[in-house]
Amino acid sequence: MSQVCPYCKLANPPDALQCDCGYDFVFHKFPPAVTCTTKSARSRLVERWLLITLLIIGLPIVGYLAIVIFVYVECYVFHNCF
Ligand SMILES: [Zn+2]
Repeated sequence: MSQVCPYCKLANPPDALQCDCGYDFVFHKFPPAVTCTTKSARSRLVERWLLITLLIIGLPIVGYLAIVIFVYVECYVFHNCF
């Protein structure tokens, strides 16, 4: 009787320890090392891109707000023009 992989549905020999897709028939899951490294590497890349995007979008907004607040406070406090 052959083992059918629950992940890719491939029929493997009864004595197979691992499917072609990497599924482990002994522990009934993917090897932790493989899933961990690919997952963490991908999420680290996504986190890095999110950070860069936030910096690119966020810095001009923060800079603009700082200038507006500075001009407003400076004008209001020192020149009383509002
Ligand atoms: Zn498989």
